[in-house]
Amino acid sequence: MKLLITFSTLFLFNVFYIQLKAQENPDYTEISDNLYVISNTDGGNVAFLVTKKGIVVVDAGATPKNGKRIISIIKSVSDKPIKYLILTHFHGDHINGISGFPNSVKIIAHSSLTENYKQFNENNLKKYIDNVLPSYLVNLKLQMGSMKNKESEEYLTLKNDYEINQEYYNDIQNIKFREPDITFNDFYRFRISDERIMLECPGPGHTNDNILVKFSNHNIIHIGDLVFNKSFPYTIEEHGVDIYNWVKTLDDLKKENIFTVIPGHGEVGPKLILQEQSDYFKSLAQKIERLKKQGLNLDQIIAKCDLNDYDLIGNEDQFKVNITVIYNQLTTSKVEWWNF
Ligand SMILES: [Zn+2]
Repeated sequence: MKLLITFSTLFLFNVFYIQLKAQENPDYTEISDNLYVISNTDGGNVAFLVTKKGIVVVDAGATPKNGKRIISIIKSVSDKPIKYLILTHFHGDHINGISGFPNSVKIIAHSSLTENYKQFNENNLKKYIDNVLPSYLVNLKLQMGSMKNKESEEYLTLKNDYEINQEYYNDIQNIKFREPDITFNDFYRFRISDERIMLECPGPGHTNDNILVKFSNHNIIHIGDLVFNKSFPYTIEEHGVDIYNWVKTLDDLKKENIFTVIPGHGEVGPKLILQEQSDYFKSLAQKIERLKKQGLNLDQIIAKCDLNDYDLIGNEDQFKVNITVIYNQLTTSKVEWWNF
């Protein structure tokens, strides 16, 4: 699965694709009455709330096939119709499953999501379909053809890689974006049956269109990729990342009456995982600022930072990116933002 990892920074596709293959049947957990989470290793975590009047889903999975799988899991729990699909942000691993959902589902998202999709995802998808994956598959075929021993472990690994990527290639050709039916800038609140759902955009953090989904009756929040529980977070400058505001958002949320947090990636956790995400950024920022004051440049600072100092596994290639983004933000911003 070298290819998907190499190109993971494109972030259109998910980096955990191979893990799903090993697991095949992602399960669901009921974390509160009628509120379920699908720990979706094939993309961002999905939540769904079953009410008497229909089902509300948060995030759609990484590919059409993944979207269909999510729907089949939901259908195994309830035969109520899916009424709403809320998208936490525009990254492909959270929204490319849309085409697996029926057209009758009303999509709700931030008003910048469509523009972001057109600006970033569309071109990346085309590049992937037209060039990246086909040339990777051809390359694998050539390597396999040059091998004499078709029983060797090396050959079988390549063959497995080939089959997974071929399937993935077929799957992503069916990706079809649908513009949201309901969009908002700051807040959107609605009721379905006796459930209250509160959506809020806290401003830029992980992306400029990230929203929080609060299940008010349950004191549970789906926070999208504002929390990567126990792995390194994606921080992409072109996508409007703002770590200062990201930390501020997490610290504000800590004051709220929240029992459980559904992160974009990683396990569902208690409120503490908000703190852990915020602490990661703060401690890294403090270190960078200290080294900056000693006169070190960005490359020297990167060399002085060790990812093993952090108790995180996964997305290790993002560690340098995290440092760079924080360094740049510390350089342009006057706020000593780790102090709050
Ligand atoms: Zn994301």
